[in-house]
Amino acid sequence: MLRTALLAAARSPLARQVVERTPLARPVVRRFVAGSSLREAVDVTASLIADGRKVTLDHLGEDTTDAAQAAATVDAYERLLAELGSSGLAHGAEVSVKLSAVGQSLPKDGEKIALDNARLICEAAAAVGTTVTLDMEDHTTTDSTLGILGDLRVDFPSTGAVLQAYLRRTEQDCRDLSGAGSRVRLCKGAYKEPESVAYQDKSEVDRSYVRCLRILMNGAGYPMVASHDPRLVAIAADVASAAGRTVDTYEHQMLYGVRPDAQREIAAAGKTLRVYVPYGDQWYGYFMRRLAERPANVAFFLRSLATK
Ligand code: FAD
Repeated sequence: MLRTALLAAARSPLARQVVERTPLARPVVRRFVAGSSLREAVDVTASLIADGRKVTLDHLGEDTTDAAQAAATVDAYERLLAELGSSGLAHGAEVSVKLSAVGQSLPKDGEKIALDNARLICEAAAAVGTTVTLDMEDHTTTDSTLGILGDLRVDFPSTGAVLQAYLRRTEQDCRDLSGAGSRVRLCKGAYKEPESVAYQDKSEVDRSYVRCLRILMNGAGYPMVASHDPRLVAIAADVASAAGRTVDTYEHQMLYGVRPDAQREIAAAGKTLRVYVPYGDQWYGYFMRRLAERPANVAFFLRSLATK
């Protein structure tokens, strides 16, 4: 119930105003968000790479209803990618993009605007020798996002997709995206979805995750195992070795601020561990989804408000 309430609040403009105006919220937010500026994001990236981890950077923002805001997001990604190139970090860092931040939800021509904008970001990434992964948002956007992915992959074949194990459709999407060169991040899924399209029970989601892992690991693509769940991390290693994969043919991914010790352990074991690093001022929706994932985070948040 708490998860449902937090995910509803993540989409509520009123709740957003209240939480964002609470300055004391910020130290707690900083556990999950690298900072508001490009400089802070690049500094965090440099230290993670120096520590043996890789990075995917997300310029925070979503559900943009203004074309100028979408263009500003493209500009932010272009500046970020140029900075990654000039500071020599592009070998270890790529970017993650939410299509709703670059125009997908605009009422008129949203899909076309998002495709054109995403193409600009892919060009900027290619110019410095790195890649883009398209984050996946709620289920109403899945077909549109996979359609745009297909268009982008014509010119930028290394553009990555995200598939969510909680969606009933995802096993088939895994089959469709398991070909050579296909980079697929598999996660459980972070949005509130109806029973008609998504498994509601945690154990059903976990079982779906394992079925999807098997499909991706036995395919010819590059699976990106995005989970902090120790059981699924261990199963991924077993499924990969049963599929005859070496550790350089897939990677693990975790969120900035979540299980950092496990992140270091995976990297120290010689595997690729990529940290998803969000930055920017539009942290509200991202932060609320992180609270929803773990009730202890809510207590942490409330305690910090009470004690400061
Ligand atoms: P869970 O069962 O939720 O968690 C397992 C354990 O991990 C928990 O017991 C806890 O110890 C720890 N943990 C998990 N979450 C937190 C947290 N917030 N704070 C503290 N500890 C935590 N979802 C999307 O819908 N679309 C995306 O594009 C997307 N991209 C992602 C990219 C990456 C790199 C990662 C790691 C996740 C992404 N997600 C995305 C979120 C994902 O769908 C899950 O909501 C999230 O990862 C929690 O699921 P879990 O597999 O870690 O398992």
